[in-house]
Amino acid sequence: MKIHEFQGKQLFREAGIAVPEGIVAKTPEEAAAAFKQLGGPIAVVKAQVHAGGRGKGTIKGTEQRGVELVKTAEDAARVAKALLGGDLVTIQTGAEGQTVKQVLVEAGCDIARELYLGIVVDRGCGKPVLMVSTEGGMDIEKVAHETPHLIHTAEFDPDFGLQSYQARKLAWKLGLSGTSVRAAEKLMRAVCKVFVENDCSLAEVNPLVVTGSGDLMALDAKITFDDNAMFRHAKLAELRDTAEEDPNELRAGAAGLSYVQLEGNIGCLVNGAGLAMSTMDIVKLHGGQPSNFLDVGGGANKDQVTEAFRILLGDPDVKAVLVNIFGGIMQCTTIANAILAAYKEVGFNVPLVVRLEGTEVEEGRKILAESGVDIINAEGLTDAAKKVVAAATAA
Ligand code: ADP
Ligand code: MG
Repeated sequence: MKIHEFQGKQLFREAGIAVPEGIVAKTPEEAAAAFKQLGGPIAVVKAQVHAGGRGKGTIKGTEQRGVELVKTAEDAARVAKALLGGDLVTIQTGAEGQTVKQVLVEAGCDIARELYLGIVVDRGCGKPVLMVSTEGGMDIEKVAHETPHLIHTAEFDPDFGLQSYQARKLAWKLGLSGTSVRAAEKLMRAVCKVFVENDCSLAEVNPLVVTGSGDLMALDAKITFDDNAMFRHAKLAELRDTAEEDPNELRAGAAGLSYVQLEGNIGCLVNGAGLAMSTMDIVKLHGGQPSNFLDVGGGANKDQVTEAFRILLGDPDVKAVLVNIFGGIMQCTTIANAILAAYKEVGFNVPLVVRLEGTEVEEGRKILAESGVDIINAEGLTDAAKKVVAAATAA
């Protein structure tokens, strides 16, 4: 689960991490009032969407950037007006962009240096790892690719947190000195604590700035929580903004299905995450592009599978659907009946390739064969992939 920058900054504030003062606004008038309330000579108006790269991104059809410095209340209102209701396109949103529904009006910060700080879980060592770099405010993926030696890391034990010596070592690599070292130590340890206590999968501060007076401040906050741990964070669930999420993924989540929207044209309905991954692989191997990852799970019932079909067939980009089921816990008859139920309810506007194996496979195939519904039968994975790619290409 992702949250907005202003929410991430609130978590930081509560953890004693320095962030600029800021006020959320939903109208230009509120933005002007926020500017006055902050009282400073300079403020920054920032689009709040669940995507990074806002500073370089623009509102579709205009030159308006997602983050802009303003010096008057009128300016704040003007920028808010240009952002609110617009679709912000950044390197992380795709071409459609994401609609801006609120902006953060924030006190302008006196920036001496922009650094980078991020925490992720490193699967290699099985621990969270803190990364810092002098190359703040930039596209960190690019830094990692082109100048990896400029990224410094420290893995830490979640039970003990980041140790002082680790923080000091990283502060030194960042070229910090004097009081900034202490400030960095305190901030790094606090962000690591936030990461562990909230079961985050990502906590990123880009840029982390050194101010003119040598203080450290988090100027951006990007936090993602591990969905599997949300059951123990009832308070964090309140921060969820479903309007920012993919509507298909939301629907699938409500039905207990694991669904990830992709950009291709072949809908995949599979049981088991491993089989879903290999199905996508083999579709790609034969020249196709999956439009989604969908794992209906081992024990999915007819209603869930029907809902899965509704989601797949409702996607206008889908030109063919591949059903790939290995009946272990799942019975092939359940799938066969769900296919027919979905056919009755939504109808199939695209070719459907079905590969069934496992429990009650003969009965399942018989149900489909006797139904009279137009289905392309496949034997084995390769045959299924070839047939669905051919069907999607012909469409
Ligand atoms: P994004 O990462 O989505 O582009 P940021 O929050 O990192 O958005 O903002 C982009 C840039 O805007 C920052 O790198 C920084 O230079 C500037 N900026 C952001 N917030 C402030 C602020 N409060 N004061 C001064 N400059 C800011
Ligand atoms: Mg940023």
